[in-house]
Amino acid sequence: MEVLAGVEETQRRCEDLRRMGKTLALVPTMGFFHEGHLELMRVARKHADIVIISIFVNPAQFGPSEDFEAYPRDMAGDLSKAGSVGVDIAFTPTVRGMYPEGSQTSVFVSKLGEHLCGLSRPGHFQGVTTVVAKLFNITKPHIAVFGQKDFQQLTIITRMVVDLNMDVQIIGYPTVREPDGLAMSSRNSYLSPEERKSGLCLKKSLDLATRMVNEGKTDAAEIRSALERLILSHPYTKIDYVALCDPATLEDVEVLRGETLLALAVRVGKTRLIDNCLLGKKN
Ligand code: AMP
Repeated sequence: MEVLAGVEETQRRCEDLRRMGKTLALVPTMGFFHEGHLELMRVARKHADIVIISIFVNPAQFGPSEDFEAYPRDMAGDLSKAGSVGVDIAFTPTVRGMYPEGSQTSVFVSKLGEHLCGLSRPGHFQGVTTVVAKLFNITKPHIAVFGQKDFQQLTIITRMVVDLNMDVQIIGYPTVREPDGLAMSSRNSYLSPEERKSGLCLKKSLDLATRMVNEGKTDAAEIRSALERLILSHPYTKIDYVALCDPATLEDVEVLRGETLLALAVRVGKTRLIDNCLLGKKN
């Protein structure tokens, strides 16, 4: 596996590969890999000749009181895991390399960013879309793979690609979970053993809502309050949001008709966990 830190050398290398007729797939990450990240890489492996990952803890997507400094990092471990699933190129830029002095351009997707995590993390998605647009310009992928665990991020990136005519196919991949149901996340490493148990309230909420919808419940307020009660019955929890919304616009719905996104953000101790599922899925 090639490990490239320089922006221009990566751009040249990817351009050469394109000219040689290779298809390129990119998996953008912030590192500290778990099985969810590795699954995205395996999917990329199936879709392209060359699999590129980026490992970059992007300061632009962290608020001033968020965990940029504390975010877990393990470059050596990540490179060895990426190598084991057949990644060809790891792009590992520095903050200064990505944001040289004088940078002042950003990408902003308006309405989709006004809901869910956009409310509690102002500026977050602008940081995400800006870095992803830059990563696309540097690695020139034909395909990019993102997790549905970050449903709003996937929706916003898909919108950006359409709106800015970016020639990249976006693939979404289902959430990979621990055996007990907790969605895998690099931030799970912050949880104490007791908090880890409380963290299961997110998956339990998804399951409860699925049961309620299967029983014919359609009143969003009724479902929301049942989930809030369930979450708050677990110690150390504080609800950021429990939202039932249109999966395309991310706007709240009052009555469930057709496919509805259930999205959750819950603080467990100091750790903010998110999870989601589609309710009333037709298949
Ligand atoms: P991150 O390193 O947290 O920025 O995540 C990098 C990519 O992995 C994003 O596209 C995430 O949506 C995806 N991802 C994170 N956790 C999971 C998971 N448990 N299952 C599937 N994809 C995930």
